[in-house]
Amino acid sequence: MRLVQNTLSTFTLAQFSVIGLFIFIMTMTFLRLADVKNALSTLTTQSVPAINQASKLTSEVQNLVTLTAQLSQSQSKSFQRLVSQQIKTSLLSLNSPAFKLETNDKFLFIQLNALSQEIEELNNLIAYRMRIEDEFDAAIEQLLNLILSTSVAFEHHPILPEKRNNAANLFLQVAQIRQQTRIHKLRLLEETIEYEISQVRNGKGKGNNIEQIRELEKIEQMLLGDNGLVNKKIEVLRVTGRARGRGNFVRNLVEDLARNIEIQTDKISIQTLNEGKEATRLVEEHIQLALISAFIAILISFAFIYYLYRRFVIRLIKLTNQVEKAHEVEPKLLDGNDEIARLGQTFSEYFEKVQSQEKALLELSLSDPLTGIPNRRAFEDYLTKSIDQSRRFSWPLSVIMIDVDYFKKYNDHYGHNQGDECLRKVAAALNSTVKRSTDLCARFGGEEFVVLLPHTEEESAQMIAERLRNAIETLAVPHEKSQISPFVTVSLGVTVCHFTNETICSSKSIIETADKALYEAKSKGRNQYVFTDFIKS
Ligand code: GH3
Ligand code: MG
Ligand code: MG
Repeated sequence: MRLVQNTLSTFTLAQFSVIGLFIFIMTMTFLRLADVKNALSTLTTQSVPAINQASKLTSEVQNLVTLTAQLSQSQSKSFQRLVSQQIKTSLLSLNSPAFKLETNDKFLFIQLNALSQEIEELNNLIAYRMRIEDEFDAAIEQLLNLILSTSVAFEHHPILPEKRNNAANLFLQVAQIRQQTRIHKLRLLEETIEYEISQVRNGKGKGNNIEQIRELEKIEQMLLGDNGLVNKKIEVLRVTGRARGRGNFVRNLVEDLARNIEIQTDKISIQTLNEGKEATRLVEEHIQLALISAFIAILISFAFIYYLYRRFVIRLIKLTNQVEKAHEVEPKLLDGNDEIARLGQTFSEYFEKVQSQEKALLELSLSDPLTGIPNRRAFEDYLTKSIDQSRRFSWPLSVIMIDVDYFKKYNDHYGHNQGDECLRKVAAALNSTVKRSTDLCARFGGEEFVVLLPHTEEESAQMIAERLRNAIETLAVPHEKSQISPFVTVSLGVTVCHFTNETICSSKSIIETADKALYEAKSKGRNQYVFTDFIKS
């Protein structure tokens, strides 16, 4: 359970690390994008519209400059009304919230207020100028008519025939008032007129009746009185001058305003430019951050994949190799304490068990169940190997075939079980007599045994055969039905094969030769060995 938890916790930790990393990257990305969004939003919702407003404002102020110039120069009331209406609309729109460049810009507000007051006053002044101009025009018209009508009196006066031109002269002088644009010239003209009138007055009593004198006085009053034409014209000139001056002042104010707005526009443009730069910088930063984050994420993912590869894949490959080559190389325990290590351990244990079972099976298949010594199959395997080995090293190979004498009779007399017991004793005795580790004693079948003696010459083989025979006899197993001894005896056939170029020894031929020798031993009376040379085949 602990092992499972180990792997689980490794995977869980890795999973959470990767998920955490991605959440971190996504959060960072989101925050950076939010910054970029804010910067772009400021740019689109504030800066760009502000530039737009600033440009509208500039054109509106330009319009105002033209309008004020038109107002200053207006000659008719209707035109003045029209222009002043347009100025009002322009001022209103400049003061409207849509044109608020910066709410804190009090100066601009004050300037606009001052401008609108000044324009109002200019407007009034222009209106006043036009009114007094009209009054002047009406008065001069009236006077000229009066002079024309009264000139008859001048012209037809009998005593002032030389002054006939006085009235015409006066008419001309009066007409000059209208054209005069300089006050000091008007004053000079006033003197001239005064003189002309005095000239006419001097003719008093010389024909001018009272009516005419009154008219003359009236003309004099209309010309030179406090509210006379000269003073009226002077007033017109003064007001015109004032209006021009105010007009210039207003134009300067508007130009100031235009300059101010220009500065504001520049400020906004610079601000917008900076905001744009800031947005670009944020985007660049974001791209860099995203690239770095992605790089780190890839590195961590690679590290994680490498870790998984080292911890699981490589060990699984090792385990697979061990399983595949288990019969050649002994499986080693894998390091660690997870499922793979446990699997390796289980496999190792399982393999050991299989091997021991295999070994047991092999032993079982190669040993004789009755006597416990190797069986015929084991003998044949060993014989084949021994022949190969003897041939390779040119060693002599000896074989002794052994057969229990009169064993049928033994069985018949003592019973089959006793027979088995006898066979066990014979086998044990034969097996213990053969001492060399390379020698083999096996049950060949029934009551026949065989002894294989690699690297053994015929003398030694005969010696061993005799020792074997003696060992059985010494056992002294009673055998009442034996015709040659009171005890169980054996007959032995001995042969030896020398591996030379001419001799070809096979399993079959060796056994046949030994069998032949055994047959001979039986024939010679049993309880003895017979040596036979190997039959060349
Ligand atoms: P000889 O001296 O000529 O060898 O005579 P023999 O009686 O030994 O020869 P034979 O081959 O005729 O008899 C062999 C007997 O061995 C026959 C059989 O009953 C007996 N035998 C063979 N295998 C076993 C066995 O496993 N157990 C027992 N009890 N008897 C066996
Ligand atoms: Mg036999
Ligand atoms: Mg026998």
